[in-house]
Amino acid sequence: MKHLLGINELSTDEIEDYLEHAKFYADSLENGSWDKNKLHNKIILTLFFENSTRTLTSFDIASKRLGANTVVWHPKISSVHKDESFTDTIDTLSEMKPDAIVIRHSEYGAPSFVANRVNCPVINGGDSWHEHPTQALLDALTMIQEKKTLEGLNVALCGDVAHSRVANSNAHLLKKMGAQVKVIAPEFLIPHDPKGAFPLDGIEKFTSMEEGLPGTDVIMMLRIQKERMDKSLIPDTQTYFKDFGLTQERLKIAKKDVIVMHPGPMNRGIEIADDVADDPRHSMISRQVANGIPTRMAVLDMLIGG
Ligand code: ASP
Repeated sequence: MKHLLGINELSTDEIEDYLEHAKFYADSLENGSWDKNKLHNKIILTLFFENSTRTLTSFDIASKRLGANTVVWHPKISSVHKDESFTDTIDTLSEMKPDAIVIRHSEYGAPSFVANRVNCPVINGGDSWHEHPTQALLDALTMIQEKKTLEGLNVALCGDVAHSRVANSNAHLLKKMGAQVKVIAPEFLIPHDPKGAFPLDGIEKFTSMEEGLPGTDVIMMLRIQKERMDKSLIPDTQTYFKDFGLTQERLKIAKKDVIVMHPGPMNRGIEIADDVADDPRHSMISRQVANGIPTRMAVLDMLIGG
């Protein structure tokens, strides 16, 4: 059975296949030409143990655009609050025979654990600081729409790389597809563990925006993952913004036609200035949100569309 648990385990052919399908659905959404009953009679179960706006909603809309039904399970109103174990919860929900499960969890590897217990495809909607594969796919779709190809693209991952599943999945995907990836962050937010989720090999590291940004085609800003770090690491967000925030001035250091991305939710005034986030010449942030729908339609279609 096929799952989508992480980008790290995909071949370049598989990534290309996902991206081609995502492009197909992005174009089809423009002209209304897709099969609206492709997933008729399928039931998609979403299990989000961590909060979500974009991922949860876009999986729901993507499923419905393909004619599937969704069941949105919520930990707050479930028996997890009556001390039911995670394993028992998963076994119980699996007995109800959904056609696919989308899971987000604060535990590293929870989606693989679930995939080993259930009888349907499992899609990772984000696990701890490990992987967020559909985010990396929709980001890649956005970059391809703007820059034509990922090959040779100069991409800067900026900010809290160390705690970001988005950075990990993007770094794997971009490296596999021939982009040139670099990291710009304070030393303590740069991943160093060779056994960690982040692929360190061949990735340049900079601790200053001024040094790292020249030559950049794509700047991907990342949210400070306060929920995954010791609060004392960044006591003063103003100083952080002064040193690592993306401002109009810093944008000028990169290539003239640089695009700015952010997976959301954004912390305006902490990692990105308002006038950069809303700059129609460079910001792709709304496009990323929109691309969540065709990308997730593609993933659902490829896993359960037959
Ligand atoms: N929404 C993304 C995620 O769930 C990024 C973030 O939360 O900062 O990983």
